[in-house]
Amino acid sequence: MHINDAVFLEDLCPKFRLRQWRKSIHRFTGKSCIYCGKPSESIDHVLPRSQGGLSTTENCVPACLSCNGDKSDENALYWYRRQKFYDPRRAMAIRAWLEGDLRLAIRLLQWANPNFKINNKNYEKNESKYKAA
Ligand SMILES: [Zn+2]
Repeated sequence: MHINDAVFLEDLCPKFRLRQWRKSIHRFTGKSCIYCGKPSESIDHVLPRSQGGLSTTENCVPACLSCNGDKSDENALYWYRRQKFYDPRRAMAIRAWLEGDLRLAIRLLQWANPNFKINNKNYEKNESKYKAA
């Protein structure tokens, strides 16, 4: 089965697994920053690692370098509230993401940005993978 092959490959090469995971995070938002909507170039820890934040899907969001750098070690929700591009729908999306409800998070992001495009096929595939993990 393909599934066994994938597990084997991931065990053999953790870097491959990390890269796939990072890619899937960006894919959830159509490669756009969860805070400002610009192209996402990095993964941001909502709760910073310095405060015990884990590298899990719930705590990691796609972010542009500008937001990621500016936010630094602050709690994302407090930081986000002070930004000029603050949008309550995005704040709700970030909260839903933190709670692991990616489906709701993506719906809120789509609401915040009508031009937001995602590949539904990939999204469904990733979601089932996410639930299985
Ligand atoms: Zn940004």
